[in-house]
Formats: sequence, C-alpha cells, structure tokens
Amino acid sequence: MYDVTISGAGPAGALCGSIIAKAGYNVIIFDKAKLPWRKPCGGGVPEHVYSEGLLNYDELKRANIIEKDTKDMYLRSNTGKELIVETPGETVVDRKIFDQYLRDKALDAGAIIQDQKTVIDIVRDDNDYINGVKIKDSSGVKEINSNIVIAADGVGSKIVVKAGLRKKWTQDDYAICSVALIEGYIESEPLSNSMQLFIDDNIAPNSYAWLFPMRDNKANIGVGIWKKSKKRAMDYLMKLTQQPFFKKKIDEKKFKIFWKSSYPIPIQGVKGRTYGDGVMGIGDSMGFVAPIIGEGIFSALLTGKLAAQSAIKALKIGDYSKKILKEYQRNWAKFGLKEGYNFQKMMRDMMVDNIDENFNKLIDWALENEENRKLIGEMFVSGTSLVGNIPSELISKITKELLPRIKSK
Ligand SMILES: Cc1cc2nc3c(=O)[nH]c(=O)nc-3n(C[C@H](O)[C@H](O)[C@H](O)COP(=O)(O)OP(=O)(O)OC[C@H]3O[C@@H](n4cnc5c(N)ncnc54)[C@H](O)[C@@H]3O)c2cc1C
Repeated sequence: MYDVTISGAGPAGALCGSIIAKAGYNVIIFDKAKLPWRKPCGGGVPEHVYSEGLLNYDELKRANIIEKDTKDMYLRSNTGKELIVETPGETVVDRKIFDQYLRDKALDAGAIIQDQKTVIDIVRDDNDYINGVKIKDSSGVKEINSNIVIAADGVGSKIVVKAGLRKKWTQDDYAICSVALIEGYIESEPLSNSMQLFIDDNIAPNSYAWLFPMRDNKANIGVGIWKKSKKRAMDYLMKLTQQPFFKKKIDEKKFKIFWKSSYPIPIQGVKGRTYGDGVMGIGDSMGFVAPIIGEGIFSALLTGKLAAQSAIKALKIGDYSKKILKEYQRNWAKFGLKEGYNFQKMMRDMMVDNIDENFNKLIDWALENEENRKLIGEMFVSGTSLVGNIPSELISKITKELLPRIKSK
C-alpha cells in the first residue's frame, strides 16, 4: 500500500511526486512511455515558472538544461506584418532532458518511478473512495493500492474520466500539433533570441506556427491545427519549412530535421472538478493549458505543487475525502487560471473566425502605441494574465478598443 500513486511522469507528475516524497511519504509514479522520452512540445518554459518558485533557474542553468534564454516574442502575420513584444524572459528546453531532470529530482527525493506501465483504470473501496489504480505492462494487469491517486497522465488521461472528474474531450476541445527539432538554424539572424510565432491560416489553420531557438544552431519548430484541417498537422509543418520567410532563417546546406512527432493539446481550459474522494487531477489531464498560446508547463508544475501540498495535508490527518482535497481546487483558483483561460478563449474564438484578417487588425492596433503593444504582449505571453488575476486595464482596453475593430468587417 502506497501513500500516493501518480499516473504520468511528465512535469506535473514528477514535481508532484518529488514534493510528496520529500515530505517523507511513499510515492509511486507510473508512466506508459519508455523513459526518457521526448514529449512533443515547443519547450518554451515561461519566466513565471521561476518567479513563482516552481523551479530554480540557476539550478537549471548550472545543469545545462536551458537551451536558450530569450528576451522577446516576435509575431508575424500572413501578410508579413510584424510585432515584437518584450517578455520577462522565456527559456527554451529540450523536453527529453527537462522532464528527466524533474524525474531525477523525484527519484532523489525517494519517489519510485516505473516506466512502460500504463494506468488503465482506477480502483474504488467499499465507500466508493478511489484507493488505487490498475496498471498494464508486458506481464499483464496489476492492481496497486494507495490512499490517494493523482492523475498526471496528460491530455489522453482516461482515469480522470473514470473518476468522474471531467467528461471525455470532444474534437473541439483539443488542437493537434506537429513539432520538429531542426539543425541549420542561423543563430546570427536578428531574431535568434526571440520566440517566434507565425499566424497564417494556410500554414496553421485556426492556430499558429512557431520557431523557438535552441543552442548550437538548433531550433524547435511546430504548427498547431484546430477544427478544420485539409491535411495532417505534419504536412502543414513541412509547408512551413518551404515558406520564403522561413528559408531565410536556415542554412539550407545544413538544414536537417533530426526529430519530429505530433501530439494533441487541450485548449478549452479546465473542465470539470479537479478533485474527488481520494483523487486529484493535475496538468494537461484536466486541461490546464493557456487557450491562445498553448502554454501548459507552468500550470502543470503549479498544479503539481498545489496537489502535492493538499495530499500531504490529507496524509497527515488520514482523511482523503473530497472535503479535504477540495483545498487543491481552491488554491489553484487563487492564481486566476480560470479567469485567464476564459478571457483567452473569448479572444481566440473571436480571432479564429477570420484569423488572418483579424490578426492583421490586432497587429495594427498594437503598433498604434506602446500601451497597446504591451497589452498584446501580456495576452500572448500570458504571464501576468494568468499569475494572479487578469489586470482589469487589460480587459477593459481590449474589450473597448480592440474587440469592436475585430468584429467590424
Ligand atoms: C506540440 C506541443 C507543443 C507545446 N509547446 C509548449 C510550450 O512551448 N510551452 C508550454 O508551456 N507548453 C507547451 N505545450 C503544452 C505542454 O506540453 C503540456 O502542457 C505539459 O507537457 C503538461 O505536462 P503534464 O505533466 O500535465 O503532461 P505531459 O507532459 O503530457 O505528461 C504526461 C505523462 O503521462 C504519461 N502517460 C500518458 N498516459 C498514461 C497512462 N495511461 N499511464 C501512465 N502514464 C501515462 C505520458 O507518457 C507522459 O510522460 C505544448 C504541447 C504540445 C502538444
């Protein structure tokens, strides 16, 4: 019998497991992948991961985990309109290395991690409390019992549905992203320290494409597609690499895709309840992802930490009921995540109606003055709007000035 079972050893599960193990409780984390694996991701780790104390920047730097420190975000429309907004300093990581760093910390703290074990179901006790999981591996199906189960198994989590925390996603609840790591990126190009986003319905339908710089002339490139799609996301990614503006960023002789993959990302915000008797859901499993930009590493780590704190409290008093675990939901709500997601969803849904034209209008508005530019920065970078409550000036200026322009034909 374990104190806590965690399904999924990504950022949410690994950080959560390390905090609980550090407090002296026995934790087992299962992951279906053969570890270490590289979760398909842009690898953009926002500054508020560090300023909120979720990870220690200096430690990551010393451990050589940070591929690139960036200073701003560059946005480009389909007609070539450009906007640069300063960021508090986003870092870029390789998820294969970053996730393993987090798992190593969990192991150091005393957590057990077992890979190639898929959590396929939850187990309930006579009082209907969740008190374990069923795992499947090459030797068959086994039942593992624990006082608390934490779902950290990402967008495809089945146990959050079985536990009654949320409904199954519908197709509109997620976008499909394709991502590639490339060599041959020209590090001396003017934007070599910028997170770069390209908004063009022909390249990334209803979403965006990106280039995030890495070290040694490498970069992470990707596209998202949402709702309509004539082709697969990977076909769109290949289309991105053929664009003249993209070709200027690479040395064609050295250009090589050395890894690529596709993966869904939940983009409708948190749906359902994130706790129940003996159970909590964290990270992507519950939809903790910013709906415009698709950033979810911050909230995976944040919810991992907050769920760990609530689990420790419950373990101390021996009460794993939803009455006690509800504290987890109250605590993440204080960060204004729901309000931030709702605001971003409203903006995004208005934009995707006619994304190319609307995005050009948005850039024009942002370029009118410094204040507008900063507000757009906050909306895209998501930092301030998601940590704490959204600044009311942001909402009122955008709703009074920008939205009417977007709505006007
Ligand atoms: C292409 C793409 C680009 C992205 N880019 C960014 C970005 O640049 N910045 C950012 O902040 N966010 C980005 N995101 C979102 C980010 O990847 C996620 O929000 C983040 O990884 C969530 O962490 P997590 O631990 O909740 O889930 P995950 O990282 O998905 O980890 C879940 C873990 O659970 C395991 N698992 C799954 N099912 C089971 C099971 N049944 N049993 C056991 N284990 C299981 C998986 O193998 C995995 O290791 C991107 C997402 C995608 C798809």
